[in-house]
Amino acid sequence: MSGEKIVAILSQTAQSSPGSFSMLHEQNNHYQPVAKSNIHVLYQPIIDLTQGKVVRVEALVRFESDNQLISPDKVLPYLQPEEIIQINFAVLKQAAHDLRLWQQQGLNFKVSVNVEIFQLENPEFAQSVLRILDRENIAPQHIALEILEGSNLEISRQMIDQINMLRQKNMTFSLDDVGSAYSGLARIKNLPIDTLKLDGIFVRDLYQKPQDLNFIQALSALSRSLGKSLIVEGVEDVTILNALRRLDVTLIQGYVFSRPITAQEIPQFICKLSIPSYEKVLKPNDWI
Ligand code: C2E
Ligand code: MG
Ligand code: MG
Ligand code: MG
Repeated sequence: MSGEKIVAILSQTAQSSPGSFSMLHEQNNHYQPVAKSNIHVLYQPIIDLTQGKVVRVEALVRFESDNQLISPDKVLPYLQPEEIIQINFAVLKQAAHDLRLWQQQGLNFKVSVNVEIFQLENPEFAQSVLRILDRENIAPQHIALEILEGSNLEISRQMIDQINMLRQKNMTFSLDDVGSAYSGLARIKNLPIDTLKLDGIFVRDLYQKPQDLNFIQALSALSRSLGKSLIVEGVEDVTILNALRRLDVTLIQGYVFSRPITAQEIPQFICKLSIPSYEKVLKPNDWI
């Protein structure tokens, strides 16, 4: 299939109903949606070490192709903004639905949903979000929106108004991928957010670049002095977990606890969660 054809099909897909982008076509090791089908939502637990429990789960989209789930990194960069907006609303809808089922089982945690910063330019954004939650009978306080940045978009009054409208309803906001291309200090300063999420690349590279621990320590202190919480994502093993504990980082997301799992697997994960004890794993010659 030629590049031109794919662009044509994509713009058709933009007008079709949300929640249905699959039948992916592989090209140069990434995937393009070529017809309607399903998206799936997986959830990755975020653990508060001080409370010893799951305090949130992040909703992460997957695209189905030939009975396989394809990662968003292989699909989203090739879609139009309008298509990403539809996908993000479909994920929010699914997340609200799954949260209602979890709440009915007596579980209590927030669900984080990713949104692109350009979505906040739409003056209807906050209303659309509230409408979706209302349909599932979910209070805004149970949702955290993670702001992703694919571009160096200027922060406008409009965006801040949309965030504030939702924060007034007790929804919380995180800045995703702090330390990556665009989520820098100006964003932290100018956006009315509650939480910083350190990009996984920082902890994944720690064995090669232990000096990055100084950066994490400074970011942890910065978040505390700004009254914001800090989530560190991409934590894959207990050695890194303990290095973070020494820096008073308490909110952790990563394979050390769980990969993204299905909505149905979440209750069992919560029941079985055990936090590796700090003392037990600390050896005299432990790294850092
Ligand atoms: P993100 O929002 O920063 O999500 C965290 C990513 O890090 C997830 O990848 C997660 O599976 C991965 N991760 C978490 N812990 C570990 C770990 O310990 N080791 C490693 N190697 N990876 C870890 P995923 O699910 O493939 O998502 C990748 C990115 O795709 C997300 O990064 C986000 O930018 C985007 N994305 C995911 N879902 C959505 C969505 O619904 N809408 C939009 N617009 N973007 C989404
Ligand atoms: Mg995220
Ligand atoms: Mg992230
Ligand atoms: Mg990311």
